[in-house]
This record gives sequence, structure tokens and C-alpha cells, in this order.
Amino acid sequence: MDWNQKPYHSLDYELKRRFGRKIYKLSLDGGMTCPNRDGTLGNRGCIFCSSGGSGDFAAQACPDVWEQIEAAKARVRRKMPPESSAMAPPSPSYIAYFQSYTGTYAPLPRLRSLFERAVSHPDVALLSVATRPDCLPDETVSLLAGLNRRKPVWVELGLQTVHEDTARFIRRGYGFPVFEDACRRLKAAGITVVVHVILGLPGEDRERMLETITRMADFSRAGLIDGIKLQLLHVLKGTDLADYYQNHPFPIFSMEEYIDFVIDCAELLPPELVIHRLTGDGPKSLLIAPSWSGNKRLVLNTLARRFKERNTWQGRLSG
Ligand code: SF4
Repeated sequence: MDWNQKPYHSLDYELKRRFGRKIYKLSLDGGMTCPNRDGTLGNRGCIFCSSGGSGDFAAQACPDVWEQIEAAKARVRRKMPPESSAMAPPSPSYIAYFQSYTGTYAPLPRLRSLFERAVSHPDVALLSVATRPDCLPDETVSLLAGLNRRKPVWVELGLQTVHEDTARFIRRGYGFPVFEDACRRLKAAGITVVVHVILGLPGEDRERMLETITRMADFSRAGLIDGIKLQLLHVLKGTDLADYYQNHPFPIFSMEEYIDFVIDCAELLPPELVIHRLTGDGPKSLLIAPSWSGNKRLVLNTLARRFKERNTWQGRLSG
């Protein structure tokens, strides 16, 4: 299998394979909250969640999606190397990514106008919505299925762990069967499903984390998920996890431990499953631990070197 020199089935590779060019992500904010924050299930959010609700890099919420798209495009262009930023990417070359809080937690008419506006933008190639599996009633899935016939729609679900005791501890607010049901309904509607998993949660040793990965590998083989984001747990200022960490210090990965472990995880996953992320980057201004994760370049370089040194992934593919 040709991964274009990448040691795993990366999101970048998948987007180039599908669209024939590089596709950029625009982080948008639908102005929603989350049942873990508005009092429906709780007021304090998941234990690790910062007040930005996983959308600390998203555009400021504003009424018009196209305005947000233009502002986010300008931010992306500023980060490109000078030779690329001089020319606008060919259209469409962007993912409209509703990242903040729970991206489907609004009445259907509001979701319809928000997502239709995003999909109708000529520069948008794909709609991606991060949400919770307990916020996907059938009518929302139908709306997304309709949009998926116009442009590809991805739904990202924050599972974090398959273990119910950890899920209760982090105050996730739904059980594993709810996640499984959402995957089945989304896939039956033809929608691409991406799952988020957090590595390093308190009370989760290597064996328990590998159980989550193995279960997601089974989900992939059963056609219930298409992609996975592996996120390193970040302890962020202002979260309940920060208080817990101060009062009950729990093991935090060193960079070397994490990189070797995340490669172990990648090797357990079927090659067809798209790996969207192997680390995760929280906002540096809020980061308490692990401090090494703030050095993104070092982490990515070390990851690439360890993949090369181990060479097991490529060996498995050619073997
Ligand atoms: S469900 Fe998402 S947005 Fe809501 S508290 Fe948890 S991590 Fe934050």
C-alpha cells in the first residue's frame, strides 16, 4: 500500500487521495453550548474540557458562517509558507469544521441554516461537525445525510474511552451503547464517522487504553467508523482535571513513552482506518502538563524518527 512516504494512513494522505490536492481545515463556531455545560446533564463540563469547549482555536462565534469562513481562510493563509500564501488554493480546498462544544446541539432549523450556509460556500469541499453521540436525533442524522449528497459530511464523536468507569469519572455523560447506536445510524445514512480517543486519562493504564484501541479497530473492520483521532491528555488551567491533578497527581506520559505507545496503537489499527491525529495540541497558554507537548515541532520530528526506527508499520503492510 502506498502512503506517499507517510508511515500510516494519515488525514493529509486521505484528503489528497480524495480531492487530488491539499485541503485545509477551517475551525468554525456554531455558537452552541453542550449538555454537559448548560445544566441538562451538568454545569461543569467534562473534567478535562477548557471553557473554550474543545474549540480554543475556532473562529469567534458570529452570526454569519461565510464571514467566519473568510476570517478562518485568512488565518490559514497567514500560516502558509510565503510561496504558497501568495496564491489562493484552487476552489474548493477547505473543510468547514464546526469544532466548538457540541456541534449538533441546537434546534433543527438552526442547524439546517448553519450547515447549508457552510456547504453552499464555493470554497468548502467538505463539512465536518464535532459532536456527542447523544445529540444526534434521527432528524439531525437525516439533515446531515441530505447535505452529504451535496458535499461529503463527516461527524466526529468524542468517545475518549470504552471504559464506563473512566467515562463516569470524566463526566462524559453517556454510555458506550449510545456511541455504538450513533455510529450505526450515521453509517446507515452514508456519513463518514471519526472517533476521538484520549490517551493518558487518570486510572487508565496501558492495557486499558489498548482495549479502547482494539475495540475501535473492531469498529473499523465492522464498517462503523472511518477515522480516529488519538489525543494526548492535556491538563489545562481552569479545568477540574487541573484541581484533581494537583490533589491526586497521576502518571503523565513522557514524550518518549507517549510516542512509543501511540505507535503501538497505530499498529493495532486496520490500515484502511484514517488516522486524523496522533497527538493533539491544546492551547499553550492553558497547558499545565505535559509541558513537552507544547513543542509541536519536536514532538512531530520525534514521532517521524521513531516510526522510521521501528519500521514495524511498513513491515506489517508489506508482509
Ligand atoms: S462534551 Fe465536549 S464540549 Fe461538552 S464538556 Fe465535554 S469535551 Fe467539553
